[in-house]
Amino acid sequence: MDHQVKQRKKLTVDDYERGILQGDRAILAQAITLIESSLQAHMEAAQTLLSRLIPKTGRSIRIGITGVPGAGKSTFIESLGNMLCNHGHRVAVLAVDPSSTITKGSILGDKTRMDSLSRNPNAFIRPSASGGTLGGIARKTREAILLCEAACYDVILVETVGVGQSEVTVRSMVDCFLLVMLTGAGDELQGIKKGVMELADAIIINKADGDNKIKALAAQVEYNRILHFLKPPTPGWVSKAYTCSALEQVGIEEIWSMIKSFQQNTILSGFFRERRKKQRFDWMYCLVEDHLKSSFFNHSAVQQNIFKIELEVDKGTLTATKAAKRLIEIFETGERGFVNANYTAQTD
Ligand code: GDP
Repeated sequence: MDHQVKQRKKLTVDDYERGILQGDRAILAQAITLIESSLQAHMEAAQTLLSRLIPKTGRSIRIGITGVPGAGKSTFIESLGNMLCNHGHRVAVLAVDPSSTITKGSILGDKTRMDSLSRNPNAFIRPSASGGTLGGIARKTREAILLCEAACYDVILVETVGVGQSEVTVRSMVDCFLLVMLTGAGDELQGIKKGVMELADAIIINKADGDNKIKALAAQVEYNRILHFLKPPTPGWVSKAYTCSALEQVGIEEIWSMIKSFQQNTILSGFFRERRKKQRFDWMYCLVEDHLKSSFFNHSAVQQNIFKIELEVDKGTLTATKAAKRLIEIFETGERGFVNANYTAQTD
């Protein structure tokens, strides 16, 4: 029997729902595969499942973690994750890694990561959805967050690397955003985008151990000085720099206390709820925009005319504003609009 390949049972939406609510990790993983699928039937089943699970979602803290490769993100997540699991939390780790699309190689996914955390029964680790645009990966991750929450994971960690807009995207799906930094590399502030620091609720200076400890403390002072001049991303919360050693598990408890007080503070001020509401609306409008954009560019009359209109803009016989107006007319009215557009092109 052992050598026989066991056919995986095709799950119904009911099976998925039951399995997720029971916290079954294998079924949760399969449900995330379902939401990642672009097959029409899978997409419909995924949306039915999500609609049923929505009332069970939201009861977690969602934490984004970014930093350059080698900063120690996975070591930090493993250290924090194991500590939280030992405290009785259930921790889900998701990733947003558009590098496979951009560089044809995944930055986050290639190495064996978070070995000990992946063996912890209270942890669930899922690598980044692959392929597609950052927007597509983001949608899948947002839905994966909801599935993990329905499966009673109360701490959701979303890891990303600084590729393109990925930090901004992850910021838009989490409550609290952490930037993991290296120190001791000489010129600490080189190569750090000020924009990314402006997204951070806290800067974590990792590898504060051994000979590096003094440099890490100096970097902490320096980052605090810089943060003082930046507008914090969360009203009522002052973003600060903290040091830790993910490897030696020093400073991790303090960082978790900071995250807890961030959560309490924002819940009390109402901003926690407000941010989540805004994130849901932004996501909804983002989906509307994506749909409109692809309907526009896939529209046959638009496709037939776009090249000709581009040529006119290039020659200077049509302004960009008029060209846009015309393309939209063609989109809205189809071939009839196209005839009109041709006609007006010569007269105005
Ligand atoms: P990531 O690419 O940001 O996920 O970085 P990793 O977690 O893979 O860590 C990169 C390297 O830094 C590995 O060799 C880790 O062992 C090492 N590292 C991570 N955290 C620490 C730390 O706190 N102290 C020291 N000394 N090394 C660390």
